[in-house]
Amino acid sequence: MATVLLVEDERKLRDLVRTYLERAGFAVLTTDSGAEAISVAGTAAPDLIVLDLGLPDVPGETVAREVRASSSTPIVMLTAKSEEQDRIAGLELGADDYVTKPFSPRELVLRVQAVLRRNAPQEIDHEVTSFGEGLLVIDEAKRICTVRGEQIGLTPTEWGILVALATVPGRVYSRFELINRVRGYDFEGYERTIDSHVKNLRRKIEEDPANPAIVQTVLGGGYRLGLSRDG
Ligand code: CA
Repeated sequence: MATVLLVEDERKLRDLVRTYLERAGFAVLTTDSGAEAISVAGTAAPDLIVLDLGLPDVPGETVAREVRASSSTPIVMLTAKSEEQDRIAGLELGADDYVTKPFSPRELVLRVQAVLRRNAPQEIDHEVTSFGEGLLVIDEAKRICTVRGEQIGLTPTEWGILVALATVPGRVYSRFELINRVRGYDFEGYERTIDSHVKNLRRKIEEDPANPAIVQTVLGGGYRLGLSRDG
């Protein structure tokens, strides 16, 4: 059974949506607080988050950014604002879909189911790619990275950078290109942000982070994957 975390401060609406989600077979956790949502998202690991943009304590945008900093849990945003600009902002923050109030609870349930289907690991077309004679293995469908036989936990941004570099091993990717590839997770600070994520990534995957073999710096250019693709 999939678990949905429902973050909505209007009690009536929260109860109504909860009823519909439960009727559709979901386990539902609820909160009216953005701060609590961030902590529950981390501890309860819900399969999806339905997130109201207008919360009394922490804005929904901040909740989405915080959740996205450490997980790839899909987010469906609820909002009273309907301007296109807000919609784009919501999607850039990592929302997978967007429902404008007032909405029909039935419609929301359909959106939730569609987003979960889209995010479900695909058993068919399952592509596992290996680099450096098995040193690095990337399983894109399952979102698993293995280095020297050990599974490594990466943040969505670190994962995005690694997968981008692995697209064409040896090719130099500028920081700007990498920012575009990982957009939606973190878009403040730009080049410096990419550098700090690379630093964290190296700490996790390199044997000697000061002398990296996997994610290499190209002076004046950006970064490249220092391993070749197997097979
Ligand atoms: Ca609200």
